[in-house]
Amino acid sequence: MSCQDSFRRSVHYLRISVTDRCNERCLYCFPRDFVGWRETEDLLSYEEILATVAVSVELGFTDFRITGGEPLVRPGVPDLVRGVVKIPGVRSVRLSTNGTRLAGLAAQLREAGLAGINVSLDAIDPKRYYEITGGQLGLVLQGIDAARRLGFPSIKLNTVLLRHRNEDQIEPLLDFAAQRGLILRFIELMPVTSREVLRPENFLSASEIRRKLEKMDQLEPVGQSLGFGPARYFRMGKRGVTVGFIGALSDLHFCEQCNKMRLTADGRLRPCLGNQMEVDLRPFLRPAIDREGLRETFLDTLRKKPLEHSFRDYYEPERTMTALGG
Ligand code: SAM
Repeated sequence: MSCQDSFRRSVHYLRISVTDRCNERCLYCFPRDFVGWRETEDLLSYEEILATVAVSVELGFTDFRITGGEPLVRPGVPDLVRGVVKIPGVRSVRLSTNGTRLAGLAAQLREAGLAGINVSLDAIDPKRYYEITGGQLGLVLQGIDAARRLGFPSIKLNTVLLRHRNEDQIEPLLDFAAQRGLILRFIELMPVTSREVLRPENFLSASEIRRKLEKMDQLEPVGQSLGFGPARYFRMGKRGVTVGFIGALSDLHFCEQCNKMRLTADGRLRPCLGNQMEVDLRPFLRPAIDREGLRETFLDTLRKKPLEHSFRDYYEPERTMTALGG
């Protein structure tokens, strides 16, 4: 078996976007003002998503994450979770959310069998949080509290690093996570959607933050994997908190352990976030579900999964990125 074959065989994790809409200025979808849910033809139905998941399970996928946009703006997400959990061969279903609607839905999600929640939290100061996301921090904190009370097996906080915008939030976020026993992950800003998102002046590398934390405390690598993604985890001995670093640009080994593919809300399979290749599955879902066609196309797309992302190609000016990321 070649290295490429074994790399692709280790892919077992599907991120399912259930909407591209968001009720906040999420960095992927801004500026999109959410005025209420609207079902559109473009969106895969839950039945179509479940059929795609079932085929992926036949091909060895075991772990699933519901995401978006903001998944909790779409009605019925707990039913979708329940449906995925019930498919024989599914090991775990998790969710990524901005947390603003979590408080009201956490119990239903837990009851449906959701195994873990990642909550985006780019700041812990309400004003700063509002400046970055346009949302109300209080709602997110209520969501996190509800999830903790319900005893979800895994709750992680995701902070996207933004130079000059949330650098001063890092220490308070560490305290917040430490006090609640939550894992805090720092995500490097990626040039997704548009290169405008990432500019030399707002890029703050995960390696820079790691060096900063190393000066404050001892960072002990956490042996066992705490998730399915490319995050590198450490325990801060004195502070008593586990932190993760996700450095798509500065971590040169970022893609080596990549085990995921993405299903977009409009039914395309995207084998790599940092590569624009997408394959439309809708011809195999509509007007009727063609399981064989779906399976062949899924497998073919899996075989084409790039060994490395091309984020660095989008980043301009390239030299500055290399300097920042080094
Ligand atoms: N709406 C949900 C949320 O806020 O978590 C789920 C979708 S969001 C796209 C998933 C994660 O990607 C969040 O942690 C978000 O902060 C992060 N993210 C968004 N834009 C990003 C970017 N340009 N670079 C890196 N991470 C980003």
